[in-house]
Formats: sequence, structure tokens, C-alpha cells
Amino acid sequence: MLSNRTPLVEIGGDEMTRVLWGYIKEILIGPHIKLNVDYYDLGLPERERTADKVTVAAAEAIKKYGVGVKCATITPNAQRVEEYKLSQMWLSPNATIRAALDGTVFRAPVVVKGIRPLIGRWTKPIVIARHAYGDVYKNCEIAVAGAASAELVVTAHNGREMRRKIVDFAGAGIVQGIHNTDASITSFARACFNYALDQRRDVWFGTKDTISKTYDGRFKDIFAGVFESEYAQKFADAGIKYEYNLIDDSVARVIRSEGGMIWALKNYDGDVLSDMVASVYGSLAMMTSVLVSPDGKFEYEAAHGTVTRHYYRHLAGEPTSTNPVATIFAWTGALAKRAELDAQPEIAAFAKRLENAAVTAIERGYMTRDLLGLFRADGVTPVALNTLEFLHKIAECLAER
Ligand code: NAP
Ligand code: MG
Repeated sequence: MLSNRTPLVEIGGDEMTRVLWGYIKEILIGPHIKLNVDYYDLGLPERERTADKVTVAAAEAIKKYGVGVKCATITPNAQRVEEYKLSQMWLSPNATIRAALDGTVFRAPVVVKGIRPLIGRWTKPIVIARHAYGDVYKNCEIAVAGAASAELVVTAHNGREMRRKIVDFAGAGIVQGIHNTDASITSFARACFNYALDQRRDVWFGTKDTISKTYDGRFKDIFAGVFESEYAQKFADAGIKYEYNLIDDSVARVIRSEGGMIWALKNYDGDVLSDMVASVYGSLAMMTSVLVSPDGKFEYEAAHGTVTRHYYRHLAGEPTSTNPVATIFAWTGALAKRAELDAQPEIAAFAKRLENAAVTAIERGYMTRDLLGLFRADGVTPVALNTLEFLHKIAECLAER
């Protein structure tokens, strides 16, 4: 039986996706590939038992071997601290891994005939590249009670001070400070350009540099500098392009396009527009996600969470109709990348066959409940299957090939 030469870093997770994870390995992968893995259990009980050291170890393993596949995990909040009797509110595992890999998150929908994007022109998937550091996500805010004057002060470590007046408040108001770093923006640019070469897709980037001349202007300039000095020739050789536009123009162009590009977005723009793009393509359960580091390490996962509501139904002994497609594509993405790095084309071919089998099952009208209302194809009456029935249907399609 085929086996991957270098260990794949396998990261276990929580709740319904943990259940799906076991099914996918048993029903779809196990019969075809003898997996060689370096396993880390990031299920919340194990994070608690190891004081979250297991998360750091998993990130280190991805750095060592280069490719990981991750199941969705619970990000603890107050309710989870109670539910799992946690000694601390552990950080989001994704944030820990992202920080360790200095990565950028790329999200792309799985495109299926019969599930038409709400925007009819979008015949190719749009890949969102969201910068995952800084801006309003690391902000500092003050609510101003009455008349006041606000200044921006930066004190250099050599003692030099820079001051700018923000505003003189006549009455109550709000003020906010945000930042980013050249190092993080440069990593973001490289991650986008590397992924574009890997995927042979154009890169579109947009900011509001006409209004935010220094802040957004820096994003624009760093992208342009990195592109010219490191990527222009490689892009020309690969026949792909880099394009910069104002963010509002960029939105209008994307809506009018047929898709197919990598759309690089600042942190907030990426947060807002990735949910819009996912909704236009149909379902969060069809959105794949990969974290790519500037030095070419890859971590594949589904964009959705642990599907808690379905898990409680599963625990109560009821069948669920949980869509496994994004999780299957996390596995196929990771196997294909591992196969590419290890020169094992038979494993890459298996990954492609498994992706095709999942898409074929849906195109023949077999799907989970979340897709039922989205599916329209002449002569095909869609049927909703439960999780296991759907996985076995995919296995049937896989066996035909
Ligand atoms: P979620 O797990 O994505 O689920 C939200 C809802 O979306 C579900 O209740 C379900 O709707 C639908 N859905 C999502 N994935 C689906 C699938 N594969 N098949 C069918 N329906 C699907 O988000 P959440 O409930 O907000 O978060 C649950 C937990 O996941 C939280 O603890 C959160 O911290 C964690 N989370 C982890 C990650 C990650 O590890 N990457 C990402 C996000 C959230 P219906 O109930 O209407 O069927
Ligand atoms: Mg969001």
C-alpha cells in the first residue's frame, strides 16, 4: 500500500469535527494510504493536561516537517472554561500556530456544478489571502467623556519624540490607535506571491492609500518593492500578474470578474470580505483554508469550527448531517503538498481522485443537509444524507475510479 515518505503532521481537534476526522481516516483514506504521521492531539482535554504545550509542539513539528493537517479546535471562552473545567482560558490554537509560523491564511471555496455562486459570473474560485497581524485586531481605544485634545505620541528608544495632533474634542467621542510592522507586511507580501506561484494565479491587492497615505501607503509600497525585487521575473515566467488598485475599485473589479485570482486583503478587509465571498459561493462547510509561512511551510484545515450544535445531537445518539467536504479537502491538500515535496506522484493522484469523488457525489445529487437548498441541476433531485451515508457515497465514487 502507498505510504507517504516524510511524516505528515496530523493535528487532532474537538467535537463534531473530531468525529468526522476519525470517519474520514477510516472510510476514505485508510483503505488506500498507510499514513505516516507525527500526531498531536489538540483536543481541549489534552491542551489542558499539557498546559497547552502540545500546541507549541505541533507548531514546531510543522516547522520541522513542512506540512500539517489540522482538525477544527475549540477556542476557549468563559463557558468552555466551565464546561471543560479548565485551569486557564488557553489561547486560540490557530493564533498560536499562526504566530509560530508567521503565516498568512488563504481561503478558497470548493466549486461544484449545481451549486451556483450567487454572483453568476464567478465561475472560478476566488482565493482570499488575509493578513493575520495587527491593525484594529491589536488596537488601543479610549472613550472620551467631554472636551479634550488627543495626540499621537511615539517615543523612540533613543528618546526622540514625535507628536501629532489627532483632534480637539468639543464634546464626548472616541479615539483609537492601531499599528503594523514592516516585517509582518513583508512576510504577508511574500506569502501571497509564493502562493500565487504555487497555484499559478494572479494576485490582486487593494488598500485605501489615497486617504491613509502613510499607513496604507506603506502596505502598497512594501508589496511593490517585494514584487519588483523578488518576484517580477518569476511571475513573468509563470505567466501570472500582480495588480494593485484602491480597495473600493478592487471590490468593484472582483464583483465584475470571473474569479480565479488571489485577493490579498488587509486584516479587517479580509475578515469582512472572506465571509462575503464564502456566502456567495454557498456554504462555510465548502471553504478550505491553508496557512502558508514565508519560508514555505503549509498547514491545511477547514474554515469552519467544531460544529458544536451537531456534536450535541451526535452525543444524544441522533444521526447528524455534517458536511465533511472542507475537512476532506484539508487532508487532500496536505497529502498532495507532502507528495509534491517527496516526489510521490501516486499519492498526489490519490488526493485528486478523492477530491473528485467528493465533488462527484454532490454533482449526482447526494449531499448533506446544508447544501440541499443551494443545489439546482436539471434532471437531478438532490437528497440529503446523514454524515456516514454521505461519506460512504463518496467512498463508492472513489471505488469507481
Ligand atoms: P461552526 O463550528 O463553524 O458552526 C456554526 C454553524 O455553521 C453550525 O452550527 C452549522 O449550522 C454550520 N456549519 C459549520 N460547519 C458545518 C459543516 N461542516 N456542516 C454543516 N453545517 C456546518 O462555528 P461556531 O459554532 O461558532 O463554533 C464552534 C466552535 O468552533 C467554537 O468553540 C469555536 O471556538 C470553534 N472554531 C474553531 C475554528 C478553527 O479551529 N479553525 C474556527 C471557527 C470556530 P447549523 O447548526 O444551522 O446546521
Ligand atoms: Mg470574521
